[in-house]
Amino acid sequence: MRRFLIETWGCQMNVHDSEKMAGILGPLGYEATADVNRADLILLNTCSVREKAAEKVFSRLGQLRGLKRLNPDLVIAVCGCVAQLEGETIFRRAPYVDLVMSTAARGAGPRAYVTVMEGCNKSCTYCIVPFTRGREVCRSAQEILAEVRDLVARGYPEIEFLGQNVNAYHHGTDELSSLLRMSDRIEGVRRLRFTTSHPGHLDHRTMDAMRDVPSVCNHLHLPAQSGSNRILRLMKRGYTRERYLQKISYLRCNVPRIAFSTDIIVGFPGETEEDFTETVSLLRDVEFDQVYAFAYSARPGTVAAGMTNALPEALKQERLQSILTIQEEIQLRRNTALVGRSFEILLDGRPPKEGPGVRGRTTCNRIVHVPADASTPNTFLTVRITRAHAHSLSGEPLLGSRAA
Ligand code: SF4
Repeated sequence: MRRFLIETWGCQMNVHDSEKMAGILGPLGYEATADVNRADLILLNTCSVREKAAEKVFSRLGQLRGLKRLNPDLVIAVCGCVAQLEGETIFRRAPYVDLVMSTAARGAGPRAYVTVMEGCNKSCTYCIVPFTRGREVCRSAQEILAEVRDLVARGYPEIEFLGQNVNAYHHGTDELSSLLRMSDRIEGVRRLRFTTSHPGHLDHRTMDAMRDVPSVCNHLHLPAQSGSNRILRLMKRGYTRERYLQKISYLRCNVPRIAFSTDIIVGFPGETEEDFTETVSLLRDVEFDQVYAFAYSARPGTVAAGMTNALPEALKQERLQSILTIQEEIQLRRNTALVGRSFEILLDGRPPKEGPGVRGRTTCNRIVHVPADASTPNTFLTVRITRAHAHSLSGEPLLGSRAA
């Protein structure tokens, strides 16, 4: 008999959902346990109403990480409103999480996620995904478009296509660029995003769709992982720093005000001071708008886990801190350059961190806090940026909101 434990945050609705999930798990051969150390499945049913809700979830996930290390078969799942709002970010910040499930029917945010493909045919030496999720399997465009139509009808103006290597999407003659163009024609689709992009698979057709298709957002998450060609080779990433920079440059020239975010792994086995300096210089060359940086940790069963030249934990942490500090300066500088400009934001129904008001996201994926009266989630508001912070912006309403 396998054991599950559900931790429930928030309202009665969440309590009810947890009861339903417990009811489903019973017939599947699970029994409830109150002892987190004995659980085979830990489910965090989250709530985003309280301040710093996401940070509290990440902090709890950090506590659970040790259990996952002791028991790699432990399944950790996040559902509820924080899962709906943070989506892929949870996998980036807590890669040991197995499942993130949205609670779409509750309309906790304006963005709906549509999985267009599963699995990955690449073989990055540090990554467990090809083992856990298998080879790429793509859904038909017809099925995806039907889901997009349904989500838009249910009030989601923003759709994000998900795939481990979403640029590799292909089904018959359809590929990611055609999927974006077809989705754009669906009435009610206001914003389209896609993640996660592999730099080697990002082709000109997709980049040109970002330029030409009105609803495709001017933000791209493009994981670089390292700025050193030597490390990229060891990681088997299949591109060079130069090739990566060419794509960034093409997009900067063609997509107005495009923002870039990336993933960086520091402390890969054998990473020298010189390799690390190359990564720092990549950060400075590109000036990313956001960076998700991680200290390398071995995933059992991967090629990299068998490499014998692992770096000391303290050195990895030192390099990570230095990346975070450098990036924070870059972000603050880039955000400061936006003060005085106006943006349309899509309100997400979450309160800002400080004081009353609303918050939303720009097409370039920046969070803007606005000290306005409560406004309906999933609607748009035009704002002027008044202050910049490293991780967000503050703004004031300019023209009033309009329905999504
Ligand atoms: S492309 Fe991404 S998902 Fe695929 S093996 Fe590499 S890191 Fe893993």
